[in-house]
Amino acid sequence: MRTTTPIIITRLQYENVMGFGEASMPPLYGETIESAIHFLKKIDAKAYDPLNIETFMAFIDDIDTGNSAVKASVDIALHDLSGKILQKPCNEIIGLPFCPSHGTSKTIGIDNLSTIRERVHDAYEFSILKIKLGARNDKAIINNIKTITDKPLYVDINQGWTNKYRALDKIKWLSDQGVIFIEQPMPINSKADMAWLKTRSPLPLIGDESIQRLSDMKNADEFFHGINIKLMKSSGLNEAGKMVDLAGRKGLKILIGCMSETSCGISAAYHLSGKADYIDLDGNLGITNDPFTGVETVKGSIYGNRLPGIGLINPEDSWNNIHDNHSLS
Ligand code: MG
Repeated sequence: MRTTTPIIITRLQYENVMGFGEASMPPLYGETIESAIHFLKKIDAKAYDPLNIETFMAFIDDIDTGNSAVKASVDIALHDLSGKILQKPCNEIIGLPFCPSHGTSKTIGIDNLSTIRERVHDAYEFSILKIKLGARNDKAIINNIKTITDKPLYVDINQGWTNKYRALDKIKWLSDQGVIFIEQPMPINSKADMAWLKTRSPLPLIGDESIQRLSDMKNADEFFHGINIKLMKSSGLNEAGKMVDLAGRKGLKILIGCMSETSCGISAAYHLSGKADYIDLDGNLGITNDPFTGVETVKGSIYGNRLPGIGLINPEDSWNNIHDNHSLS
């Protein structure tokens, strides 16, 4: 089991104003500290107007394909910087309403049944749990959880089901167990099976691994009822804001999700909450070395603030405490 996640904190400075961003890079997605530094070295930030985010991010995107977490770190820093220059919170910069507070789910990973019970107990303050399934004992895990709580559950399969008939049977059973939605039930390449499942599922199906960036949303409504938007997949707030807008026009439900991130990434992502149906922004709560203070999570609800930029409190002090090659643990 992974106990650390490599991250990079990116800082952009314009005159005496500083903007902060973050790249969180779980190994699964292929980015590393080295690849991020290599990418950042190709950016000549001085050549661009920090208030022209669209042009700046088009340049960043053209440097190379992939690299969406390090791109997100630049985008978040740019939004933080622009917000501070304009004295506006980021949600206004991306054209979304302010969300004063919103409940977040707490994720419970796949583990043995007694550890899962412990984690559910520990999450007593949260009114919604997100349960990872997709192993062989899905029903045992849910039955185990139902012995101690009746809370509504989000379920994330992480592409784990490969047979559409069995998947449909399980979804029907889960719909009687207080489950709200099912995330990424089948592998990315099972498109025909996903389309089949979408027309029959009694629960909303939310695309995560299948929907990384705006371009992946073209036919999203053939396979899913909603999408999971994460800054580390979308390349940051600029594109995530467009994904929120397109989801609204396509009638897709919106889940705002995250990786293991500090309060920098989580505070930035929270600015997308104004039009979200579901929030799963617990990535900063499971780490012990968060250098930042931003949005606050109290008793399972996140409280936004209206500070200029992404909403960090005295991030310059946090920056001074950060060492090179930081890992979250
Ligand atoms: Mg997921």
